[in-house]
Amino acid sequence: MEGRILSFESMGLVDGPGIRTVVFMQGCPLRCKFCHNPDSWECGAGQSISAEELFAKIQRFRPYFKRSGGGVTFSGGEPLLQKDFVLEVFKMCKAAGIHTCLDTSGVGRGGYGELLRYTDLVLYDVKAVDAEGYRNICGGNIAVTEEFQRALRESGVETVIRQVVVPGINDSGEYMEKLKSYIQEKIPQATKVELLPYHLMGLHKYKKLGIAEPLAGVPAMSKAEAEKLYKEYFEN
Ligand code: SF4
Repeated sequence: MEGRILSFESMGLVDGPGIRTVVFMQGCPLRCKFCHNPDSWECGAGQSISAEELFAKIQRFRPYFKRSGGGVTFSGGEPLLQKDFVLEVFKMCKAAGIHTCLDTSGVGRGGYGELLRYTDLVLYDVKAVDAEGYRNICGGNIAVTEEFQRALRESGVETVIRQVVVPGINDSGEYMEKLKSYIQEKIPQATKVELLPYHLMGLHKYKKLGIAEPLAGVPAMSKAEAEKLYKEYFEN
């Protein structure tokens, strides 16, 4: 089976435990205002690669990630849009004893049970906690995420929650309280929450693609501010 990828990173350190080989899948149905990978949006763009070829590439980096307790992470874009391709590669990885991690917003086309059986860890990206906030921040329908959340609960797969925090949009105490309740209700098996401070590092890509910056004028959030919010609302 062929899939489309945006890029391949051999020494990822932030997308799961240990050193990760990270595969950025091409195509995303969302348009998050804080997205730093707008080049991943267009379905059908990127590079075409077969599942076997990709697995062979992953295998080449095995000595690095194995020693560190790492593995492979599929990110994006939205990897669930190419669920069958990811499943095929994950099956090969599991047969070879490689730790598999799926970084997703939960917005694919359904039928997630089998993929989750071959997934060791999910990094679940929360965009917003209600329909209006969701539409505003990523232009999507929050109801679409429900099927994946249900499958995730049923699977019991270990899950880490990620939330990008943008100054003036979702950095209030009120939002943090709502986020806490949302996670407890929707993804009760979450073992960790990561608040990712909004940064400006992807802005040059908007310029290059000729896309207007959705958050023009919004400042980056410092790591210290995000840590403060985490300590106040999520520690213990
Ligand atoms: S889901 Fe990820 S890749 Fe898609 S628009 Fe949002 S941040 Fe960008």
